Amino acid sequence: MMMNQTPSMQGYVRVASAVEGIEVFAPRPKEGGAAPEVQNFTCPQCGASIAYQPDLSSLTCSHCGYQQKLDVRDEKPQIEQHEFTVETVEKAARGWAIARKDLECQNCGAVVSIPVEELTHTCSFCGSNKVIQRQASEEILRPKSLIPFSVTPKQSQEIAARWLGSSWMTYRNLSQVVRLEAFKATYLPYWAFCAVTPASWRAEVGHTETERYYDHGEWKERSKTVWRWESGSVKNRYTDLLIDGTRRVSKLLLSRIKDFTLNSLVPYDPRYLAGIQALAYDITLEKAWEEGRAEMRDQTRKTCISQASTSQVRNFSMQMDFQDETWRYVLLPFYLSSFTHEGRVFQVVLNGQNGQITGQRPVDWNKVWLVIALLLSPGLLFSMLGLITLIIGVGAVVGGIGLVLLVIGVVISVIIYMQAQGLDDA
Ligand SMILES: [Zn+2]
Ligand SMILES: [Zn+2]
Repeated sequence: MMMNQTPSMQGYVRVASAVEGIEVFAPRPKEGGAAPEVQNFTCPQCGASIAYQPDLSSLTCSHCGYQQKLDVRDEKPQIEQHEFTVETVEKAARGWAIARKDLECQNCGAVVSIPVEELTHTCSFCGSNKVIQRQASEEILRPKSLIPFSVTPKQSQEIAARWLGSSWMTYRNLSQVVRLEAFKATYLPYWAFCAVTPASWRAEVGHTETERYYDHGEWKERSKTVWRWESGSVKNRYTDLLIDGTRRVSKLLLSRIKDFTLNSLVPYDPRYLAGIQALAYDITLEKAWEEGRAEMRDQTRKTCISQASTSQVRNFSMQMDFQDETWRYVLLPFYLSSFTHEGRVFQVVLNGQNGQITGQRPVDWNKVWLVIALLLSPGLLFSMLGLITLIIGVGAVVGGIGLVLLVIGVVISVIIYMQAQGLDDA
């Protein structure tokens, strides 16, 4: 087990640890207290900390059972958007508006915001326990809206257990290697962009035409491509185009489970974060908007090209504009876990709204190669037999069967190999 190193920085004090043998350090509490808008959520009945419970849409005290309903979904309030001006960015609210602390991983650098009362010692992004606690940053922008969790921690563990055991290509004991209770409800940062992109285009479009020609005393036909100029205009509207706000979770993994129902977005209320960890953005608004614009340009280009009368297009040019651009910073619900297998870190991610799951799983190559060998052996055997009998003079049938089996075996083997390769992609 890796041990925490004592931080050499001054101003850190040892705080309570939930895991034996692990020391946890936190910044020495500051004199004076927190900013006035920061709230802390404790149970009004018993004073214990309360946490958001997805299946009840309420804040619940695990100590005395007190419940506070928290559902603004029926009201459908208009969530305001920000325009792209320096003032709106400068004026935007900052901080979480709830007493939080930051957990900085000394291994991968992830900075996660966690409830003050939480005793967490492992990083959900790399599994390391070299973490340092410090006061939450008040510099980061405050989220504008979020999708509350619908999947409960218990459901997330059931889904994860099923998924971990769903492939024969991986190790059988995987669900034991991955501590299911390590699946942490985590809000991940996203930038949501809206814009209208009027564009006009011009291109040469190819048409296949049949041409008659005279050759050696007879008429023949051949096809040729005739290029004609075409032009058109489109006006695409983008609503809440989501761009990742963090690099801590693999882009590929996130893209596989990004089917969020965005009508469920509610205005940010710090109570939704009670008992749940959240990651602030590490990709800035400017960087994300660059990516968002590139994606909109790409999609607008495709819309233009689809207007051409055939699919053969050359010398394409497009003039496009961005109008009514707005942005907002949103939090989306996920369950995250990472585990280490033979020195490598594997991430597992679950969509906290609909339960979609994806992740990396280590491949048991011994098992995969054994299956491939078994698949190829009948074909090889029959082909060999066929060859031997062919020499004797009766082998054509046996050899033919062997060849067919071999081809089938190779095809299935290639599919299995590609699947196994894809199992730990990230
Ligand atoms: Zn209570
Ligand atoms: Zn980490």
